[in-house]
Amino acid sequence: MDKSSHAIVIGAGIAGMAAAIRLAVQGYAVNVYEQSDQPGGKLGYFETKGYHFDTGPSLFTQPANIEELFELAGEPIANYFRYRKMDHSCHYFYEDGTMVRAAADTDAFAAELQQKTGEPAHHLKHYLNNSAKLYDGVANVFLNHSLHKRKTLVKANIGKAIKTVRISHLMKSMHQVNQQSFQSEKVVQLFNRYATYNGSNPYKAPGMLSLIPHLEHNEGTFYPEGGMISITKALHQLAIKKGVAFHFKQPVERIIRHNNQAIGVVVAGKNILSDIVVSNVDVYFTYLRLLNDPEKAKKILKQERSSSALIFYWGVHKTFPSLGLHNIFFSNQYQQEFDHLFRLKKAYNDPTVYINITSKCEPGKQAPDGKENWFVMVNVPANVGQDWSQLKTIYRKAVIDKLNRMLQVDIESLIETEDVLDPVLIETKTGSYQGSLYGTSSNSRMAAFLRHPNFSRQIEGLYFVGGSVHPGGGIPLCLKSAKIMSAIVQEDARKRKRH
Ligand SMILES: Cc1cc2nc3c(=O)[nH]c(=O)nc-3n(C[C@H](O)[C@H](O)[C@H](O)COP(=O)(O)OP(=O)(O)OC[C@H]3O[C@@H](n4cnc5c(N)ncnc54)[C@H](O)[C@@H]3O)c2cc1C
Repeated sequence: MDKSSHAIVIGAGIAGMAAAIRLAVQGYAVNVYEQSDQPGGKLGYFETKGYHFDTGPSLFTQPANIEELFELAGEPIANYFRYRKMDHSCHYFYEDGTMVRAAADTDAFAAELQQKTGEPAHHLKHYLNNSAKLYDGVANVFLNHSLHKRKTLVKANIGKAIKTVRISHLMKSMHQVNQQSFQSEKVVQLFNRYATYNGSNPYKAPGMLSLIPHLEHNEGTFYPEGGMISITKALHQLAIKKGVAFHFKQPVERIIRHNNQAIGVVVAGKNILSDIVVSNVDVYFTYLRLLNDPEKAKKILKQERSSSALIFYWGVHKTFPSLGLHNIFFSNQYQQEFDHLFRLKKAYNDPTVYINITSKCEPGKQAPDGKENWFVMVNVPANVGQDWSQLKTIYRKAVIDKLNRMLQVDIESLIETEDVLDPVLIETKTGSYQGSLYGTSSNSRMAAFLRHPNFSRQIEGLYFVGGSVHPGGGIPLCLKSAKIMSAIVQEDARKRKRH
């Protein structure tokens, strides 16, 4: 393909940039229009008084998705991006004082669980083996191919994938599968928490999600040097290297359609034409605002949105040796917490608290010496008009009370700087409807099939990438969405040539 074929990507989130890189490699002249003044979308960052804060994602898994982009682009990744595998994936804290450090090494983790919770070591190994089988059989087909193109599914051997699935993966909830697998309620809770990987409820989401722990415990968790923002920086630089042009502070107002074909976009009242258009914008807003199709937008809402989050970015004037890069302080009533998140859509007085501290990996760089940068997050309901200033006060108190209790400190007196992100800000800053973190939830058995495809059935030349479409939210899946999209673009181009 010569550079006379033009692609427009709307949004410079992780998925938008991955899409731009792939299309540039395919030979398109690519222009990315982004409403904000910087790339990364949810994966942003800020610094205050020497504390570095990544604003959104904090957990990095499956670096192979990023490696693959650099290989495809023919660029040595080491020139752009470095990361390392972590020895421990997470430190878990329970209200009764139990603390579990989840080692990357399965034997060490199994021994820790046995010692701290009484869970027989072989239960963990059996569970993680099943998780791996399920992931290898199912995820490789469903997460790497379009579910909406029969031909690609046949090629991907969907028959084999279906054989891996047991009836319990479909008919039982993730919680029920975990209860069958472990005898300790603490271990059940620990593995239930993986439903929050895609903003879902373990008491509703299908047992199929028990494939998620495979990512952390068999493949591992990783730390990008310089913090998560280095992922954004690396993709941005790679895209520029491949000739992609970025236009910041240039929100797209509309996608131009002509004879049911996407032929460009409107930016600042001007028509900009292209051969294909890729939307990295939340699919709901793409239909509502960019395509002026409220009916189709309404249909998208039939699927439940994923949960959102409230984040307190605290510069903390002390170091805590018992904490690691990732820390979870569990709620005592996990089921009630999820009921508040998804059914009642209200604050819960004993939320599970997640704390990410990148200064554990780069002391003195991510925070001043002797201090720590705490990214303190609680899952909260998607925004349906709740009073967030009131909720922020309620949650802040609940979080501080919990940490004081569980860490035996007066945390408030140690907070040197504070910033807050709530669901409304997530929506206004990144255009994610209701501030949901991962687009739609996976609380139903059919969720994977109901996510919007990576192409439009009605409008030729219009494609979709990112957390709100197939295969789902989270950095690895967003990167996969760009891969699936670019394969469809290639196939469509081949078809056009044949006709
Ligand atoms: C607090 C938080 C914690 C998270 N934790 C994790 C984690 O630990 N691990 C993980 O893997 N994932 C995590 N996620 C999810 C992850 O951040 C997202 O799945 C991923 O970053 C989404 O990328 P994206 O490219 O789909 O969209 P976005 O990052 O939302 O990017 C969309 C872009 O489109 C732009 N845009 C919107 N409308 C327009 C318009 N009209 N014109 C031009 N530009 C427009 C936006 O400004 C934005 O830059 C988290 C998310 C949040 C918010």
